[in-house]
Amino acid sequence: MRRKVVAGNWKMNGSSEFARAYCLEISSHLPVDDIDVVLFPPFPYLGIVALSDVAMGGQDCSVNASGAFTGDVSTEMLRDVGARYVLLGHSERRVMHGESDELVAQKCLSALKADLIPVLCVGESMQEREAGAAFDVVSGQVNAVLSVLSKAQLKRLVIAYEPVWAIGTGLTATPDQAQEMHQFIRASIANVDAEGAEVVSILYGGSVKSDNACELFAKNDIDGALVGGASLKVEEFIAICRARQ
Ligand code: 13P
Repeated sequence: MRRKVVAGNWKMNGSSEFARAYCLEISSHLPVDDIDVVLFPPFPYLGIVALSDVAMGGQDCSVNASGAFTGDVSTEMLRDVGARYVLLGHSERRVMHGESDELVAQKCLSALKADLIPVLCVGESMQEREAGAAFDVVSGQVNAVLSVLSKAQLKRLVIAYEPVWAIGTGLTATPDQAQEMHQFIRASIANVDAEGAEVVSILYGGSVKSDNACELFAKNDIDGALVGGASLKVEEFIAICRARQ
């Protein structure tokens, strides 16, 4: 059985007061049956979320263990403050910080070695979709990671398909468009490990809200959601979690 995961990526938003109030509210609704609810707050607020019973992760990690890497955070540091997950290869990091498929693959490997669950983000831009290259782009991003993982490591991966054109735009992929890509990603995993393809959860991200979550979750290969803007409103995020039940 695949895990159902609903994750909130706060991106660079929030404050300590916001984090405290949010965790208090969401904790009163947990656990949501059969669902892994995960928050990705900015690094400074991980310690606050750690005081609650909500699972959490970092929004990025370094491939290095320690040393002269100003601004970076290691996998062991994330573990040390109670993180169980780490978001990797988000399009905002790929685009604004020039993260390559190869670097993202190495980060996934580092995370798995530290016993963190990587949530690998993949997705094409509008230009790439219009040029008919969406499947090539996504398979390049997925295969770069699959090529460095053992079968045992692969089974612990979570993938989030986030078409760049749907992020923060209010334009959601249709359930059929999302399902088509999720099925394609699962088939790419099956090429390497048929058993792994059945256990890897694939989340959809890109303008998910409580009023479009149900129709996305109705699709066979959509196991959950990675929510950006709508996760900043705790009631809205809880409603999305309930839609996944
Ligand atoms: P939005 O839900 O704001 O479109 O963001 C999606 C996202 O980037 C989550 O990682």
